[in-house]
Amino acid sequence: LKTCLHFLRHAAGVTALAASAFALRQEPAAALGVDPAAPRARELLLELTSTTRLAGTSGSQVGAAIVAKHLEAAGWKVEFDEREVLLSLPRRTSVSIFDSSAARDATLRRMASFDPDAIPPNDLPLFNAWTASGVVRAKVVDVGYGLRADFERLRAAKVELKGAIALARYGKAYRGVKAQLAEEFGCVGVLLFTESSEDGGEKGPVWPKGPWKPDWDAQRGSILPVSNAPGDPSTPNGASGRPGEKCERLSLDEARARLPKIPCTPIGARDARAILLRLSRDANDKPLGPGPVEVELDIDAPLALRRIVNVHARLAGETDELVIAGSHRDAWVRGAHDSGSGCVGLIRAAEHLGARAKSGWKPRASLQLSFWDAEEHGLIGSTEWGEANSKLLRDKCLAYVNSDASVSGVNFGASGTPGLLGTVRAVAERSRTADGARSLWEDWSARAKEGQPSLGLPGAGSDDAVFAHHLCVPVLNVGFSGNEGGQYHTSFDDFGMVERFLDPGFVGHEMLGAFVAELLAEMASRPSAGFDVAEAADAMARHARAAADAQLASAEQAELMASAFEQCSRAAREAPLNASARPHRFYALFENAEPLESRPWFRNTLWAPALENGYGVETFPHLRRASEEARAKHIEFVAQRASQAVQRLSAPSNGSSGN
Ligand SMILES: [Zn+2]
Repeated sequence: LKTCLHFLRHAAGVTALAASAFALRQEPAAALGVDPAAPRARELLLELTSTTRLAGTSGSQVGAAIVAKHLEAAGWKVEFDEREVLLSLPRRTSVSIFDSSAARDATLRRMASFDPDAIPPNDLPLFNAWTASGVVRAKVVDVGYGLRADFERLRAAKVELKGAIALARYGKAYRGVKAQLAEEFGCVGVLLFTESSEDGGEKGPVWPKGPWKPDWDAQRGSILPVSNAPGDPSTPNGASGRPGEKCERLSLDEARARLPKIPCTPIGARDARAILLRLSRDANDKPLGPGPVEVELDIDAPLALRRIVNVHARLAGETDELVIAGSHRDAWVRGAHDSGSGCVGLIRAAEHLGARAKSGWKPRASLQLSFWDAEEHGLIGSTEWGEANSKLLRDKCLAYVNSDASVSGVNFGASGTPGLLGTVRAVAERSRTADGARSLWEDWSARAKEGQPSLGLPGAGSDDAVFAHHLCVPVLNVGFSGNEGGQYHTSFDDFGMVERFLDPGFVGHEMLGAFVAELLAEMASRPSAGFDVAEAADAMARHARAAADAQLASAEQAELMASAFEQCSRAAREAPLNASARPHRFYALFENAEPLESRPWFRNTLWAPALENGYGVETFPHLRRASEEARAKHIEFVAQRASQAVQRLSAPSNGSSGN
């Protein structure tokens, strides 16, 4: 049945492409199942994308069973971690466009419904999770990208924002920030769309002819304020319980107070055009508004407690120290790329490592693979599990490796917390490119700025957030890229998109599986997963110096922090830390007893996700908001901890929090 359904789903694409290479390569329906000549990754992705895998639906359960089956077959011990969390799922969305306030009949109306309890669930309509429910009709204002600067510019120009519906473009910031700002500036609704110049017809042929976004489809996605606190919004102070288990939970009204209060939905570029055409113009003849066009938004998206399932697989090592790799297994629709690619890569890694274990190999540290649920709603599965196991993780977890939407080609790349680049390098140097011509390290270096790969600093865009920001565990994100399309969070992020455009031949998927297997084996074999304090301290010294340029600190204050980090780096190079020291707890040394104003969940004081650009980071967040006196105190604290870091890490009672 699965095979048949899959064929039907792609039949339309096949017809439209009669003469293309795809049609030639595509086998008849019967062969869409197991093909012994095809890469294993292809077979896994085909199976995984057989249904919509939205968190809290039956499709998610199917996905959990598929993942578990393959992990068990590979020899790993599997656990289903079920949790009850608050989710926002759509039931009905309608968007109607009226030419003016006087118009009674809509010029255009789109309606979509969804039954979260259907088995199997249908493909998910256009939807922003955590939108408020309700009906509003109002004049529309074009708010550009919906950044603070956009709203302030409009306010300065005396454009009436109060009571209007904001039409904002996707891009430049996390979508939740746009919704939050629209609300702050008095708007009563938000419409989000992507310019076709960014990922649609202006880039090239649209789906199914090419990989770009057709103007009827749009980017789904969460608008949960994750930079304030990711995870279940009804359990901000701890973990959500297993089904039936008691936990400290806000009432629905209390939770609502922390969520968007106005309706918000994505629309296709075609509908955005219909609205823009009907807006009054500014002095430069650009669409602006408000009105005369009006939009009526009618959204029914109830909040409800639903069951999510993280799937964990474990391979016991010689010690109970842990190295974890994870990918989210939920998706907005089929999620073949986001994050089917990450899941398939991890299952392939499980198969490689399982085969090694069968031939007698045992890792030093224990290995865990986690397939997170409800990432798309706001990093919920990983956050709640991380909170529930924070003591264990602070004590035993050496590193976390994330893989989200991680294959769209064969070009290797990694990002994460400084300190792990050396370990990545060791593995990349002995891994080869697809054509075997050079090492992945040489290949990555050739593409890197000034030929020097670097890890940057991790934000809060995926499941590594709880590890990096709440538990102060070093993290990595790894993947293979190179190809592009407009599929992000759309209905055509499916198997066909990956096979035809993102990773033809599934070469990148197989490379990811092999690389993650090697990386986990390497990390498990090294004390502290190979975390290098000198490398981390050098990176933080550079960020500390940059703090003066960003006017977070005076030149002397920045120098005080930077030279303390350099002192730490020197000490770590001169006397390398022995195995009993816990260098991977380096970042935990900078956890502050004083929580970050308005977002105490973020305990890493060296950097945090930027509040208004969502996916990016801001360094030294305490220096951005506190009083001058508090800033000076914090600078003292950072400098003191940095200069004592090596000593503190080596001390026998270094504890788990570093405080
Ligand atoms: Zn993702």
